[in-house]
Amino acid sequence: MKKLKLTTKTLIALVSGIIFGLLLSLVDSTFIKQTLLIDGILKLMGTGFLNAIKLLIGPLVFVSIVYATSSLKEIQKIGRIGLKTFCFYIGTTGLAITLALIMANIINPGKGVDISLLTQATTGATVTTNSVNIIDTLLSIIPTNIFVAFSEGNVLGIIFFAILLGISMTLVGEKAQPLVNLFEIGNEVLLKVVSVVMKFAPFGIFALLASNFATFGYTALVPLAKYVIGTIFTLGLHLLLIYMSMLIFIGKLNPMIFLKKFMPIFSVCFSTASSSASLPVSLKTSEEQFGVDPSVCSFTLPLGSTINMDGTAIMQGFAVVFIAQMYGISLGMNDYIMVIITAVLASVGTASVPGVGAVMLTMVLASVNLPLDAVALIIGVDHIIDMCRTPVNVAGDHICTLIVAKTENALDKTIYNNVENLTDQAA
Ligand code: ASP
Repeated sequence: MKKLKLTTKTLIALVSGIIFGLLLSLVDSTFIKQTLLIDGILKLMGTGFLNAIKLLIGPLVFVSIVYATSSLKEIQKIGRIGLKTFCFYIGTTGLAITLALIMANIINPGKGVDISLLTQATTGATVTTNSVNIIDTLLSIIPTNIFVAFSEGNVLGIIFFAILLGISMTLVGEKAQPLVNLFEIGNEVLLKVVSVVMKFAPFGIFALLASNFATFGYTALVPLAKYVIGTIFTLGLHLLLIYMSMLIFIGKLNPMIFLKKFMPIFSVCFSTASSSASLPVSLKTSEEQFGVDPSVCSFTLPLGSTINMDGTAIMQGFAVVFIAQMYGISLGMNDYIMVIITAVLASVGTASVPGVGAVMLTMVLASVNLPLDAVALIIGVDHIIDMCRTPVNVAGDHICTLIVAKTENALDKTIYNNVENLTDQAA
């Protein structure tokens, strides 16, 4: 109920922010429009919210990736299933982000508006140019000083150190367990911080959208709508084309049955925008409806809800192209490769709760030197996309689980094909 309430508030903020901004764009008085509202109250609320988000990037990326990689021993333990699952998760996320980059370049959501003027005026951001030298880019991943990496916001450097630390903790084993526990607690605390900051999201979203629309008027509506519709379309494409083809050709399973039985999970994901909230119903459905042996799904589903976020990666890929186009920055092959790598890592580090994908987006933007303030526009509409990307995140976990179970002889096809007792599965 509480989450639904936040959803409702966010949607109200979204609609009222756009309407207020559009009305404000008609106001003639510079004092009321610019000085009092756009550069005053709205800036305080909007930029304040953005600053709080930016504050979280470094600590969140660092702690969540150390924690994710230090739990890799689970994968070692489970051996073959673990390796298959891990490769599947990483591979499909790579595929998802590539599809998003292609689709965004076809749909061109950000062409036609020059947002740079607005952001420079309201937040002081400058348009940065892309790095062209791949060697320099790769070298920047290895920081010479971790504190400098933190203070300069070198997210790739932070990730590099986090992975190194996490893997080393795994290698040290038992002795490092207290440190692993510390990172586990740290991770939980930081997620709490995210949810506290997100409580202010409706105000932040209202202010950011209102000031954007007040400056741009109707012209901002078209690219934003293109971004939302384009991302949702690509999410649908990934679900219906890529996943269903995998189910048919690799899993040799009926996709219609999958979609029918996935419906209750879909609705939980859609309404809560949280993969982990759907975990109980996911596990139940996997065993009782899909016929997956618990030895497989009890490992693949919780792991998937932590590290596998194809829907989130799609949003990030689409957002990168959208933002680059709005700023008139053209991305080269190096940049795209960088986006694919960071979005896969971001997907591993994204927590399965609402809104974290948009915070992690800043890390993907940073990897190709796109201005972080551009998140301002994205965040305004992010909750709608979060509701749509979370079911895709979870669907990916189930497709992997089914395929791994099939190859391990841990799938009961009679249960999978039985569509009779569908009604009581969500209970
Ligand atoms: N809400 C997403 C999930 O739980 C994560 C995100 O993209 O924000 O899967």
